[in-house]
Amino acid sequence: MTKDQREKPKKLTGIAVSPGIVIGKARLVDRSRVKILYQYLIDEKQIKWEVERFEEAVRAAKKQIIAIREKMPKQIQEHSFILDTHLMIMDDSMFHDATVETILKERINAEWALKKSLQKINKLFAEIEDEYVKERVVDVEYVAERVLRCLAGKEQESLFEIKERVIIVAHELSPADTSSIDIGKIMGFITDVGGRTSHAAIIAQSLRIPAVVGLESVTWEVQDGTLLIVDGYTGEVIINPDDNLIIQYQEKHLAQKELESSILRMSHLPAKTVDGYKIAVMANIEFLEEVAAAKDHGAEGIGLYRTEYHYLRGNELPGEEELFSDYKEMAELMAPYPVTIRTLDLGGDRLSPGAGTKTETNPALGLRAIRFCLKNPDIFKTQLRAILRASAYGNIQVMFPMISGLQEFLDTHAILKQVMGELEEKGIAFDRGIKIGIMIEIPSAVSVADILAKHADFFSIGTNDLIQYALAIDRINEHVAFMYQPFHPAILRMIQHVVKVGKEAGITVSLCGEMAGDPLCTSLLLGMGIDELSLNAWGIPAIKQVIRSISMEESKADLERILELDTAKKVREFIEQRMSQLIPYLGRKDLNAEEGSLRGRAQR
Ligand code: PEP
Ligand code: MG
Repeated sequence: MTKDQREKPKKLTGIAVSPGIVIGKARLVDRSRVKILYQYLIDEKQIKWEVERFEEAVRAAKKQIIAIREKMPKQIQEHSFILDTHLMIMDDSMFHDATVETILKERINAEWALKKSLQKINKLFAEIEDEYVKERVVDVEYVAERVLRCLAGKEQESLFEIKERVIIVAHELSPADTSSIDIGKIMGFITDVGGRTSHAAIIAQSLRIPAVVGLESVTWEVQDGTLLIVDGYTGEVIINPDDNLIIQYQEKHLAQKELESSILRMSHLPAKTVDGYKIAVMANIEFLEEVAAAKDHGAEGIGLYRTEYHYLRGNELPGEEELFSDYKEMAELMAPYPVTIRTLDLGGDRLSPGAGTKTETNPALGLRAIRFCLKNPDIFKTQLRAILRASAYGNIQVMFPMISGLQEFLDTHAILKQVMGELEEKGIAFDRGIKIGIMIEIPSAVSVADILAKHADFFSIGTNDLIQYALAIDRINEHVAFMYQPFHPAILRMIQHVVKVGKEAGITVSLCGEMAGDPLCTSLLLGMGIDELSLNAWGIPAIKQVIRSISMEESKADLERILELDTAKKVREFIEQRMSQLIPYLGRKDLNAEEGSLRGRAQR
């Protein structure tokens, strides 16, 4: 194929679940479900054989799973219990005996009988309250699928059989699939479905292979052999990249690798400038499971724990005990470092069926975050009780999102005080000195930051929303993405003002939006006097390294010049020029363009 005949590059963005960059050929793995097309009656004399056909399929399926378990890579053997569970499911009476009984009683074919068992099991699981257990129905489905394939005589291609180095492209990958990944062959994987906590995502991290999930339709866009670039840092997948893109990503990959290996070794050193000014670098997390990665990457605390997951994952609201045990474990794991728990930020684009959040005409300006909590005090109090109780077990701080002015904060504080009073009455332990923070992410809060600073223990600037509201651009609308400009002079002035008034009031000022993780912003924020940065764990070593390479004196001098520049473009150019020596790929606009790319949660 000549250069001109090649298909044009196409970029898809999904959820980056395991970091790294790979460039390679796609291998489409068909995991479409076996269709049960026929229901037929079995002749009396054949019934025994039909039962035997089912038993034989179960035996074959078991054999396959045992083979996978035996060959499972060492790094992920701790997850082999999932395969044991699959074996147990095949012996379970509701799965096995019930199917045999249906074949015998109703004289129908094994496929149909198994489908009937599955329907009953599904019904049972639907009634289970515990969300985690409820979700385990997928394991029953994986097992049934395997048995059905054995009945149909359709061998499912095992990932073990893949001989060349490829990037797996699949609608979804089952635990048996991910247990069969040979890292000598499989460079990475991308899937249509899946989320940050999916089994496949966890395995990719353990195996340290890049993975992007939730791409929705990638299996429709890609064929066997299609050239792909998978960027497990940003969630970008490039289909049919041209030579320029390949070179760019190869450079990014090399620069990233070099950088990572050198800075990971130093990630536990403090983030101290060459002239001795130290700030704290912390992690933003959404799940308890991310705490280990945060610690490994040198986080000095959790600066933002987004707590929505427990509310979004099912139809039921989480109970106080579920939240308490999650917060307590996190506090214990991170102690003595702080864990900053942000109270619920539901609403907007985060709709929870359990909490009854609804789509609104203008969701970003709707009943979101603290507004939702003040309207639903019972839901709010349950979370506050869990946070306060957990505060007895470590260094927990609490902060409130989307505070727009003092009255809203006072109303919020009153509820917190009320919950504290109730716990006290019952003699339940909590940290009476718990630090209380305000997220500064609405322009009105910036204006009255001096007033708010008198009432809070700390500020945390949420630039993702602050930029959205200050520049009037919907952070999830791709049509205005080009206007998402952290370097807009208005944004810089706002941040500077908040840091200044916070410092005057003697409170800590942190920044936890995506700007905290952009190395181009580090010197700028340092020069302003920010006390803490909180960002995605993977980015911490790089940010710490930048801090260790610059001086406070220079950062302040640069800031003075930056604040005189009148457009975002000029600011970016100035910073890029100053920073390009520090990290080779930093200056690459094409790879790091902040303007025009909605970062962080907005991309999910
Ligand atoms: C922010 O708005 O900058 C922030 C950190 O919170 P979220 O992205 O969860 O809204
Ligand atoms: Mg926010």
